[in-house]
Amino acid sequence: LTSGLEAAWTKLKGEEVLTKENIVEPMRDIRRALLEADVSLPVVRRFVQAVSDQAVGVGLIRGVKPDQQLVKIVNDELVKLMGGEVSELVFSKSGPTVILLAGLQGVGKTTLCAKLANYLKKQGKSSMLIAGDVYRPAAIDQLVILGEQVGVPVYTAGTEVKPSEIAKQGLEEAKKKKIDVVIMDTAGRLQIDKGMMDELKEVKKVLNPTEVLLVVDAMTGQEAAALVTTFNVEIGITGAILTKLDGDSRGGAALSVKEVSGKPIKLVGRGERMEDLEPFYPDRMAGRILGMGDVLSFVEKAQEVMRQEDAEELQKKIMSAKFDFNDFLKQTRAVAQMGSMTRVIGMIPGMGKVKPAQVREAEKNLKLMEAMIEAMTPEEREKPELLAESPDRRRRIAKDSGKTEQQVSQLVAQLFQMRVRMKNLMGIMEGGSIPTLSN
Ligand code: GDP
Ligand code: MG
Repeated sequence: LTSGLEAAWTKLKGEEVLTKENIVEPMRDIRRALLEADVSLPVVRRFVQAVSDQAVGVGLIRGVKPDQQLVKIVNDELVKLMGGEVSELVFSKSGPTVILLAGLQGVGKTTLCAKLANYLKKQGKSSMLIAGDVYRPAAIDQLVILGEQVGVPVYTAGTEVKPSEIAKQGLEEAKKKKIDVVIMDTAGRLQIDKGMMDELKEVKKVLNPTEVLLVVDAMTGQEAAALVTTFNVEIGITGAILTKLDGDSRGGAALSVKEVSGKPIKLVGRGERMEDLEPFYPDRMAGRILGMGDVLSFVEKAQEVMRQEDAEELQKKIMSAKFDFNDFLKQTRAVAQMGSMTRVIGMIPGMGKVKPAQVREAEKNLKLMEAMIEAMTPEEREKPELLAESPDRRRRIAKDSGKTEQQVSQLVAQLFQMRVRMKNLMGIMEGGSIPTLSN
């Protein structure tokens, strides 16, 4: 999927605005890429339409390229499509919360029972598992072993009792023991069939569950939409859990769930270990599907931090090599606001990889610089040349900020170096010399 989308962005490089014409090709690539990721066709159609409608005529943010902006729009739509926010599990206000797990064979239901119990334990909730897969004795043993592993009781009644009867007995037992959450494992089939659905309906009637969660393997392809629809229509689900997200799949199935059922994905499984269960974050999933997390956070942060005018003014100053200590302070503070230096530096095109040690050093320097700049007069901040020319001024600043004269000299030199470097970055090679400091 990534390579397809990358092609889409590449086609926009050099464009100034997003228009009906210039997004046609990128949108075709996006469409193809989503289909390749096994998102179902109707979902893809609606998605592409929504993105196109939004992209055309959108107000461009200064300093953000159109291709980056299209990434942002695609991302926001993906997030919306997947429900926007994190959807928490719902708990019953009186009596035990009952969670019924349903899904095809081998998707990870039995494993999930224990993972879920483990997850809830961390939230201070007690659970009990009910072994409802009566077709394979091994399935019951598997659940018992997993229950032991995470330290929660497992209710079993063998393979001769109907699942709905086991559910009833298990629930009574849980009520007696004042268990907070009851998790019911059920049998899956390789394909949807009437027998499985009827059994689930019966179990559901007996349990009156708080949550009916459809367990979906992240590798499920085009059929995810039909699968979710059928389970939702037949038994009625309250949400889904996506498993095996640790595999190669980009998780195209995730896009279909909310769109076709109106029900959110609540949790994701990322491995076979008991700890590998976490809430479903639509924004992270979108990033995974797009494979462009860094560009996205850059655009977002740029939007938050740099108001249009500021960016414009800064650009002018860089062009004319007038970048002064006020800008320097504003920039360093904006960068600090933009979150950890590690991420930001990684995002700036052309800056390449920076080692963590260098980053920590940079963060330390930032504090040091702030102190020295604050000790400057407004005139000195605007005309760094004054500081280059006068050792007296540098000495005063050193004294007032509690730093050494050498540190002040370094800061001044750094500003001039930055002027040159920034101009070069903007593609202007001439001008901007580094003055030598007089003593
Ligand atoms: P069920 O038939 O739906 O009950 O599926 P199981 O719980 O028996 O799981 C089937 C297989 O998938 C087992 O080998 C599990 O260890 C494995 N499995 C379950 N969840 C995950 C997951 O999130 N990631 C990976 N890699 N494997 C998983
Ligand atoms: Mg099972």
